[in-house]
Amino acid sequence: MRSWEKNIRKVTPYTPGEQPQRDGIIKLNTNENPYPPSQKFMQKLKEMQGGSLRLYPDPAAKTLVDALAAYHGLLPEQVFVGVGSDDVLAMSFLTFFQSSKPVLFPDITYSFYDVWAELFQIPYERPPLAEDFTIVPGDYFRDNGGVIFPNPNAPTGIAMELEAVREILEHNQDVVVIVDEAYVDFGADSALPLIKEYENLLLVRTFSKSRSLAGLRIGYAIGSPALIRYLNDVKFSFNSYTMNQPSIYLGAAAMEDEEYFQGTLRKIVDTREWAKKELLALGFTFHDSKANFIFARHETCAAEELYDALRKADIYVRHFQQERIRDYLRITVGTREEMEVLIRFLKKYLRP
Ligand SMILES: *Cc1c(COP(=O)(O)O)cnc(C)c1O
Repeated sequence: MRSWEKNIRKVTPYTPGEQPQRDGIIKLNTNENPYPPSQKFMQKLKEMQGGSLRLYPDPAAKTLVDALAAYHGLLPEQVFVGVGSDDVLAMSFLTFFQSSKPVLFPDITYSFYDVWAELFQIPYERPPLAEDFTIVPGDYFRDNGGVIFPNPNAPTGIAMELEAVREILEHNQDVVVIVDEAYVDFGADSALPLIKEYENLLLVRTFSKSRSLAGLRIGYAIGSPALIRYLNDVKFSFNSYTMNQPSIYLGAAAMEDEEYFQGTLRKIVDTREWAKKELLALGFTFHDSKANFIFARHETCAAEELYDALRKADIYVRHFQQERIRDYLRITVGTREEMEVLIRFLKKYLRP
């Protein structure tokens, strides 16, 4: 090591899923929405004028915050926005996890959590999921510096019932509990009704999956005005202008076409349930997913082999090297047509 390298922060970064930059790929590897944003949204995008881009954006992103508050029936003081939920989550780790006691999150979960914990030097422990990959609420009933988990969990897709979330909150009144609801729109129960009861509960959501806008980078948090104030204090100590003007304007526009939004959700859920039956018939097993992906293993064919074979056929899915889940593939639910191509390929490959 060169002498000047001694004082440098060294981190092992998160590895995002591949974003191949060519056409003709069936992309089922990063849980994006297979449907484009609504026509109404596209119209707003077309009509956008660039003149005001010479100015800094509104640091409070009020247009977007107000639209989200109105959508959820909350006060603007209960909403915080960021550059994708990754930004919101990173800011939340920095703001809320200041204890010398360990923050708790599952051993198998969104693999960015331990990266942020390491980056911000936050102690953490990872209670293992049960044998059936469910989160064990009782594992979170102990002294800790904060709790975070996705619901539904990633990459398992398994949802936790609202009563279990409540139980975790009941046992954690003296720390902040964050529920990452990146996939909640695909069929899990949101903890939104608990916001009124628990001042220490923060929900984090994203436009990247259910709202077909991964490319725009918008995420948000909802919680008590007190929590949101703390988040804003940290944000304004870090970067006042996280949200750019187009995101603020277009993000608000994206909340307008509820019918289209519900329609795409329905299509994805229908396709997911269809794909589950097809995968089952092909010898795959999986837990009940309430997300826009299926986390499946095959009874005889190794996940890594399948991953490679699919990739050669230009079908991208996600495989994780982590212990306990090495035998699994995480398959994003695409359009029905895309899933039919996947199933056809698997049929041929697995039964030559
Ligand atoms: C995708 C994802 C995120 C991050 O999404 P953004 O695109 O940054 O909004 C956060 N948490 C989980 C569990 C996710 O799967």
